[in-house]
Amino acid sequence: MATSCIDAYRILRKGNEAFVAGQSTHPNADISARQKVVDGQHPFAVILCCSDSRVIPELIFDTGIGDLFVIRVAGNVLDDAVIASIEYAVANLGSSLVVVLGHEKCGAVTAAVNKVEGGHLIALTDKINPAIDMVQPQAGDLVDNVIRQNAVNMAEQLQKSAPVLRPKYEDQTLKILPAYYELTTGKVAFLKD
Ligand SMILES: [Zn+2]
Repeated sequence: MATSCIDAYRILRKGNEAFVAGQSTHPNADISARQKVVDGQHPFAVILCCSDSRVIPELIFDTGIGDLFVIRVAGNVLDDAVIASIEYAVANLGSSLVVVLGHEKCGAVTAAVNKVEGGHLIALTDKINPAIDMVQPQAGDLVDNVIRQNAVNMAEQLQKSAPVLRPKYEDQTLKILPAYYELTTGKVAFLKD
């Protein structure tokens, strides 16, 4: 049976609390867990996060095989392939929670703020740039503010994404939440409920 979005949110928070406290249980990581999902997967949450090697969703949320449908791209930005991946998990696998997880000291966001160019980088920075304009009036660290705003922006885009995600978000069977991962403490702060 699919996990409700409320329960999915609770499981992630509880898992992160264990990770922060150094009390991870590493569930669903043994041979039986591996066998259980051979004929089908029902990941309860989708995590869109950065490719950064320090941000590992399964460890951060103390989850295992078959629990999370993870999409990783530098700067946790959206394009049609990413949205299609999220739609697949929500429509076909029963995922009821989508988390857009930004993180402390994100290199992609730092590159956007510093207007770094080269290779295909502009494909990422172009998507982050609107967040830079939005946080200009804010006090505090510019890069850190952009990291948070970028996660909020991506979550809001998903909330409005037709035709698959928006109806489920509006009838509250799907939660789509921006969040921020702190490298030093391991803590995930949900930026909106
Ligand atoms: Zn990053």
